[in-house]
Amino acid sequence: MKRLVSLCIVSVVSAAAFGGLSLLPAPREVVQRDGFFTAAEDADGVKASFSTDASIPKEGYRLVISQTGISVASSDPAGAFYARQTLRQLAEKAGEGWRYPCVEIVDHPQYSWRGVLLDEGRHFFGKETVRKLLDLMARYKFNVFHWHLTEDQGWRLEIPGYPKLTQCGAMRRRSPAHGATLKRGKERFSYASTEMTTEQYGPFFYTAADVREILAYAKERHIQVVPEIEMPGHAMSALGSYPEFACFPERIPAGAAADDWGIFPDVYCIGNDATIRFLEHVIDYVCELFPSPVIHIGGDECPRIRWEECPKCQARMKAEGLKKSGDLQAWLTRHMAERLAKKGRRVMGWDEILGGDVPKTAIGQSWRLGGREGAGTEHVSGADGAVKGYDMVMSPHVLTYYSNHQGLEEELFPRNGKGLSLEKAYTFDPASGVPEEARKHILGGQCCLWGEYLWNGYDLAWRMWPRAFAMSEILWSAPANRDFAEFSKRAAAERRRLIGMGISCGPMK
Ligand SMILES: [Zn+2]
Repeated sequence: MKRLVSLCIVSVVSAAAFGGLSLLPAPREVVQRDGFFTAAEDADGVKASFSTDASIPKEGYRLVISQTGISVASSDPAGAFYARQTLRQLAEKAGEGWRYPCVEIVDHPQYSWRGVLLDEGRHFFGKETVRKLLDLMARYKFNVFHWHLTEDQGWRLEIPGYPKLTQCGAMRRRSPAHGATLKRGKERFSYASTEMTTEQYGPFFYTAADVREILAYAKERHIQVVPEIEMPGHAMSALGSYPEFACFPERIPAGAAADDWGIFPDVYCIGNDATIRFLEHVIDYVCELFPSPVIHIGGDECPRIRWEECPKCQARMKAEGLKKSGDLQAWLTRHMAERLAKKGRRVMGWDEILGGDVPKTAIGQSWRLGGREGAGTEHVSGADGAVKGYDMVMSPHVLTYYSNHQGLEEELFPRNGKGLSLEKAYTFDPASGVPEEARKHILGGQCCLWGEYLWNGYDLAWRMWPRAFAMSEILWSAPANRDFAEFSKRAAAERRRLIGMGISCGPMK
């Protein structure tokens, strides 16, 4: 059936009342017209005329589909790329070809930092899963891949000069069994799973060539890869490889990474110059390998009990005039921040790093709300960090840790944290509680996929989707008129598409 080109505007649709189109994240402004543009090519191949318009905000775009063609305007290549992602969601199969509804969309992101964290320390997913993740991140306009590459339970990046990091640190002699739960261990800060497997896990790690491959893949999708190298805690994989970097080497089980989940009392010895040289070497190499302007050094959940007993750490405190053991972490953070600044990079760390006197160029990542978590370390809330003048990325665990279970009545696997339903995930607001004048410091947010109870890419996707639809909308779309019922309809439609693409998806719960 033919339709007239000159049909009038059908509706101007806000994000809250989003007509028949099912777009995620919701664009800013949509004017839907009658009719379709038809083509033989799918959204990746279909011809569109591109133009530059400097008045369009960064990463934004204007997409016009008429019955005669498709045109895109943007001020940068990222904007044109996101127009293409929108086009992919608009495309419908029509006979042998494709059809695209006539529409005019004006769009730009709410936040510049739209992140997903993947923890490969606990379980290693590998390049294929990472590429799939990057594909889907691009589809929903995420632009930061926070790659958590070192953990107590696994060191995943080959470092020249330190072969044991990947020979030993990328391997566990045993692991918590499926179905095992985690309980407090005998020593302060230690934990123990109720059941262990005896199977060796790994060694699994990325070489420089692997990393370059992932970086190129991400770059094509306008995704910045921010590597994270944890210090001074969560370091048992490095200490199992090189026990001499711990305060008490004789207490470290050598030859492998930690084999159980949890927090460990043994951390890097900040009083030992050799440890500091090692960490500098790693950070220098990471800067060579990764072009990211931001390098994440972790900093969360670092117990200080070893530092309090260690003669070298005590000597460092005296020499540097540090009053309490926690100041050793702040000293290390400052040291790394300065080193990174000389290379033109910014240091980033979990909110614990803001507890000390850290330069204002540091970026904080807020993960705690109540301040009672985190091994008794200093707590600076995301809002307080912004008020102090730090740029902040918000990822409060109760709302953004998508490795947490969805709150189903029947859960097959043990899991981190309390139930986080889709509806609850959708309530996250990075600017919540942040005074108006400090909001310029809120760069954006992230969902975090921690790996303890994600054994493979299937588990990862099951936890991530559809909740990451919520995150994509929170970080990209206009915050006004957010309506969960309306969002749910689009999310359900998009979830069906993902399942059709062979992606495992959790429930619409
Ligand atoms: Zn020490």
